[in-house]
Amino acid sequence: GKRALVAGVADDGGFGFAIAKALIEAGATVCVATWPPALNIFLNLLERGKMDESRKLKDGTLLNFEKIYPLDAVFDTLEDAPQELRESKRYKDVGDFSIAGLAARVQADFGAQPLDILVHSLANGPEVKKPLMETSRAGYLAAVSASAYSLVSMVRHFGPLMRRGGSVASLTYMASERAIPGYGGGMSSAKAALESDTRVLAFEAGRKYGIRINTVSAGPYASRAASAIGI
Ligand code: NAD
Repeated sequence: GKRALVAGVADDGGFGFAIAKALIEAGATVCVATWPPALNIFLNLLERGKMDESRKLKDGTLLNFEKIYPLDAVFDTLEDAPQELRESKRYKDVGDFSIAGLAARVQADFGAQPLDILVHSLANGPEVKKPLMETSRAGYLAAVSASAYSLVSMVRHFGPLMRRGGSVASLTYMASERAIPGYGGGMSSAKAALESDTRVLAFEAGRKYGIRINTVSAGPYASRAASAIGI
């Protein structure tokens, strides 16, 4: 069977969970990666049965994730994370939460080339509620870092772990190509970068690793992230 890693699952209300569930229904084994600030809540909800309804598969059994890893996709290596964050409550006990750390853990758990599918279903724009024109440089760069560069880094670190013919997919939004008020903070810019990077990464990683890179432009959906901005 195929193994997938879905990055950006922290509840049962977003695209990541739905994609993971569809992959499991199709016969894949799925690991997920969760942002450390949301990890404990997610694990608790799962443990206490609060997600059992959404976990229900067509055959009546409940889906299980093979592994749930911590991931903060704004850090390529643990050394890149500020000491203060590494020692903070939600981060100090989870181990190496960087992209390189996640790749190392997946490799340690499953061996040399364990992945067929990698899904990038994460984004963050701290100033998303601000119009682009009012967005600070730091807010803009943070949106691009979390929402676009994270894919570049993930392809770099996970390319070597993927079987030939494997597939990477991310999620984008139409605000990259048309002006959509409310999708601010540099998130429109981040999605434009993500889409352009998808074409270049498909060229580069296609040649280097024999894998495909695609992005799906999803319609508006009231996930936790989207509800925060009233999409
Ligand atoms: P969501 O809140 O379910 O998923 C976003 C996830 O990103 C969350 O689990 C969050 O914890 C995680 N995250 C944030 N910062 C992170 C970081 N630094 N490292 C690791 N994880 C981090 O919301 P969603 O709407 O399902 O979003 C999934 C993807 O779909 C995103 O790329 C989003 O931009 C895209 N998308 C959403 C919509 C929509 O209307 N909901 C439309 C088009 C595209």
